[in-house]
Amino acid sequence: ATPAYDDANIFAKILKGEIPSEPLFETDAAVAIMDIMPQSKGHCLVIPRAASRNLLDATDETLATVMPLVAKLARAAKAAFGADGVRIAQFNEELAGQTVFHLHFHVIPVYAGVALKQ
Ligand code: 5GP
Repeated sequence: ATPAYDDANIFAKILKGEIPSEPLFETDAAVAIMDIMPQSKGHCLVIPRAASRNLLDATDETLATVMPLVAKLARAAKAAFGADGVRIAQFNEELAGQTVFHLHFHVIPVYAGVALKQ
């Protein structure tokens, strides 16, 4: 079973304002921020406010609300950085590569001639 949500994670602290951040945009449903260790120029994250550990325990409402924001950020990142494409990435549980246990979506611009690290 998916472990219970634990709010002692870094994104929960960012959402609560306990750790300062500079959001790219904020809605009632989600916050978008730059990734602190970008895999490419413009790598950012969409973080739904709802307390979900990952995709495995997220509600349909959370997922339905966040995906338009992921698309919006992908379009904005592509335009702002002149990217040639955008990768969306999302990891569920440690074995799958998840390191922060609050649901989030990676928006990773990709550029012609620039290989991604992973
Ligand atoms: P994941 O859990 O999807 O594997 O990765 C979490 C992502 O969050 C990583 O890309 C990492 O660089 C990013 N990250 C971790 N801590 C912080 C932080 O404090 N601020 C920001 N903006 N990004 C973070």
